[in-house]
Amino acid sequence: MSKHLILLGPPGGGKGTQAKKLQEDYGLVQLSTGDMLRAAVASGSEIGKKAKAVMEAGQLVSDDIVIGIIDERIKQPDAKKGFILDGFPRTVAQAEALDKMLTARGLKIDAAIEIRVPDSMIVERITGRFTCGKCGAGYHDSFQRPKVDGTCDSCGGREFIRRADDNAATVQQRLDAYHAQTAPILPFYEKKGCLRLVDGTLPIDQVTGHLKNIVEGKAVS
Ligand code: ADP
Ligand code: ADP
Ligand code: ZN
Repeated sequence: MSKHLILLGPPGGGKGTQAKKLQEDYGLVQLSTGDMLRAAVASGSEIGKKAKAVMEAGQLVSDDIVIGIIDERIKQPDAKKGFILDGFPRTVAQAEALDKMLTARGLKIDAAIEIRVPDSMIVERITGRFTCGKCGAGYHDSFQRPKVDGTCDSCGGREFIRRADDNAATVQQRLDAYHAQTAPILPFYEKKGCLRLVDGTLPIDQVTGHLKNIVEGKAVS
C-alpha cells in the first residue's frame, strides 16, 4: 500500500513507536529527522556539528538543514514504496517546503495524524525512554519493558541507549518549541482536509489500532 503519512504530536507522544509498527505492517519507510540528525551528530559531519548544541538545548534545528535532509532522503529508491514522516514537518516553513517537494513528484499526503498527549504526561514518557543500541527498538521503564530484563525483544541485544536530550530539564524547552512552532502546522493540514486525531494517552496497541483504521480508511475521526 503506497501511502504518504505524517505523524504529528509532542516529543515523547509515541510517534516513533507507532511509525515502527506501521512500517512493518504496511511496508512503508519511517523517515525520522530526529534519527537522521542524531546519525549526523554521531558521524561528526558538518550538519552534525551545527545541530548538536541546538538539539541538546531542546530547540529546533534550522529549517534549511532539515528540509535539505528530507529532500535528499525522499529521492532514495526505498521511499518509492511510501513513507511515514516522524518528526517532520515541525514548522510552517517545513510544511510548505514539503508540499512543494511532493507536488513536484506528483505525490500528496494521505493523512497527517496528530497523536495527542497532554504536557502533563510527557516528562514521564521522555525520562523513561530508552532504545536498543543494536537495532533501535524502543522501550520505556514503566510502559514498555523488554520481556526479559536487559535483553532486546527484537534482536537479543543487551546494550541500551538513553538520549542526551531526554532529561527533565530539556523537556520543557521541547514542549515550548512544540506549542510555539509545531502546533501551528495543524491548521495547515486541516485546511487540506487530511488532518486526523488519535488519543495518544491510550495503551500502545490501542493507539496502533486507531492509526491502522485511519490508514485503511475505516475511521471517520
Ligand atoms: P516520540 O517519537 O513521539 O518522541 P516515542 O515513540 O519515542 O515518542 O515514545 C516515547 C516513550 O513513551 C517511549 O519510551 C515509548 O516506549 C513510550 N510510549 C509510546 N507510546 C506510548 C503509549 N501509548 N503509552 C505509554 N507509553 C508509550
Ligand atoms: P522527539 O520526538 O522526542 O521530540 P526527535 O527525535 O523527533 O525527538 O527530535 C530530536 C531533536 O532533533 C529535536 O528536539 C530537534 O532539536 C531536532 N529535530 C528533529 N526533527 C526536526 C525538525 N523537523 N526540525 C527541526 N529540528 C528537528
Ligand atoms: Zn534490539
